[in-house]
Amino acid sequence: MTTHRLTAPAPGWTATTDVVVVGSGVAGLTVALNVRKAGLRAMVVTKAMLDDGSTRWAQGGIAAALGEGDTPGQHLDDTLVAGAGLCDEEAVRTLVTEGPDAVRRLIAVGAAFDRGTDGEILLTREGGHHRRRIAHAGGDATGAEISRALVDAVRADQDIELIEHALVLDLLTDAEGHAAGLTLHVMGEGARDGVGAVRARAVVLATGGMGQVFSATTNPAVSTGDGVALALRAGAAVTDLEFVQFHPTVLWLGPEAEGQQPLVSEAVRGEGAHLVDANGVRFMLGQHELAELAPRDIVAKAITRRMLEQGAEHMYLDGRHFGAEMWEQRFPTILASCRSHGIDPVTEPIPVAPAAHYASGGVRTDPHGRTSVPGLYACGEVACTGVHGANRLASNSLLEGLVFAERIAADLAGRHLAGDLPERTVDVEAARAAHAVPLPPSEARAEIQRLMSRGAGVLRSAASMAGAAAGLGLIAEQTYAHLAEDKPADPRVETWEAANLLLVSTALVAAAAQRAETRGCHWREDFPERDDAAWRRHLITTLAAAGGPVSTPEEQ
Ligand SMILES: Cc1cc2nc3c(=O)[nH]c(=O)nc-3n(C[C@H](O)[C@H](O)[C@H](O)COP(=O)(O)OP(=O)(O)OC[C@H]3O[C@@H](n4cnc5c(N)ncnc54)[C@H](O)[C@@H]3O)c2cc1C
Repeated sequence: MTTHRLTAPAPGWTATTDVVVVGSGVAGLTVALNVRKAGLRAMVVTKAMLDDGSTRWAQGGIAAALGEGDTPGQHLDDTLVAGAGLCDEEAVRTLVTEGPDAVRRLIAVGAAFDRGTDGEILLTREGGHHRRRIAHAGGDATGAEISRALVDAVRADQDIELIEHALVLDLLTDAEGHAAGLTLHVMGEGARDGVGAVRARAVVLATGGMGQVFSATTNPAVSTGDGVALALRAGAAVTDLEFVQFHPTVLWLGPEAEGQQPLVSEAVRGEGAHLVDANGVRFMLGQHELAELAPRDIVAKAITRRMLEQGAEHMYLDGRHFGAEMWEQRFPTILASCRSHGIDPVTEPIPVAPAAHYASGGVRTDPHGRTSVPGLYACGEVACTGVHGANRLASNSLLEGLVFAERIAADLAGRHLAGDLPERTVDVEAARAAHAVPLPPSEARAEIQRLMSRGAGVLRSAASMAGAAAGLGLIAEQTYAHLAEDKPADPRVETWEAANLLLVSTALVAAAAQRAETRGCHWREDFPERDDAAWRRHLITTLAAAGGPVSTPEEQ
């Protein structure tokens, strides 16, 4: 098999550990903490600071059947409905049955959830949930609290090595094709500066999402799809890339706004805020039995449809009836964020529009987080465990990160005990033989984002995606032309990220163009119906020898 790698200088330094974890969100840090319990050395390498991923930004909460009368079975039912026929039911069952105890273990690590006067955890509702089952912290600062607790815990463990400002480039494999470490670039000083290599017995990808593929997203700047791109170059299968969830209610900051945009959590609708158009009409009534609390894809589509009908750039979320006290106590982060942009939700409706929020697809894994490359694991948003299907149910992602991170650690611990996790010898020759991918200029990032938002956003058609594919193809052509003219872009963070965005975008468009139906969060204007006969199956994407992504429908 031909593998590919990003153009980069040869590693100038090497470090060794047992398990190297890429990423420091809920998924990565949970793997590291649990791997340590099994007596394995862990190293966490992360692109920016420890708390710079999506986890810290999560507002609404974490879903688990913790409330009286609620059961994993009901949580399963709601998850399957949101997933629109493409969830892996066994994966969902694992999520919902192991979820409540995983949350209790998170509390034991130190995460403090909001509690009532009786000491019980307070639970709220979000879209698609028929029960109050979302535990939250700090009102609407759940992710910040989870991140704080996990970061404190890993910092307290002297045997977890943490390397910040370390951008992982590519996987290293041994002669048997087993993951044996990775290459990375550290923006540090001293012995570990510049491009280096980490040798390990196993590699865990926990690199989060890919929202930065689009112009407007709730995701932070680090969410550039690096893990999916790395996995593709390493020969792993990825799946469900076309299912990008667009969050319906993102604060609208004007037509030119780009990059990470502030989210107005679903929990605001959960507590009774209404979606209205410029005339004050509640347009979700009659569209779905749950009205504003319908699953996200339904709300995002309804908002987009109304925007198109009325030629409007946004709709409004009206929570004025909450009053100042409730806004201040229940949603302090959102209140502050809106006010910092000149909008006061206590006295005026909030302008909102959909923006890219969550990647339901990713690197394909089995129930133990194993990818199709031996020794390479994936969990959290970068992974596709099968729990989200065609659309993630609100607040299932933090839970998925927790549950499947624990399962990866358990798998590694079991292998270690069984003597099945030996030290690996990195096959440098194989790494050298890999095809080096030339790098686009850093300015390509903004162009890729524009092409993707225009052609593969909330509304898609064959024509819109052909436009996006042509634009992406042109960037790739120009990149190779610069190589031929001996004017290649420098290997550095911006150009490595641009190369990852280009690969992930190209793969996403290829899959979305192939799926000729509307399902979950994939909305085709030219194929408005769900087509179970042809499309109740996954598209599996791999990289062809020539370097382009190929999507193949899974056998039914
Ligand atoms: C605004 C917002 C609100 C949300 N609200 C909720 C919610 O209420 N409930 C819920 O369940 N989910 C929510 N989500 C989704 C949820 O936060 C994420 O899916 C989840 O936190 C992902 O966790 P993770 O550990 O997989 O990745 P992240 O937390 O994104 O962490 C990824 C890590 O990988 C690192 N990384 C990336 N690429 C590289 C590389 N090449 N080399 C080294 N390191 C790399 C990053 O720096 C980061 O440390 C929200 C997301 C956003 C953006």
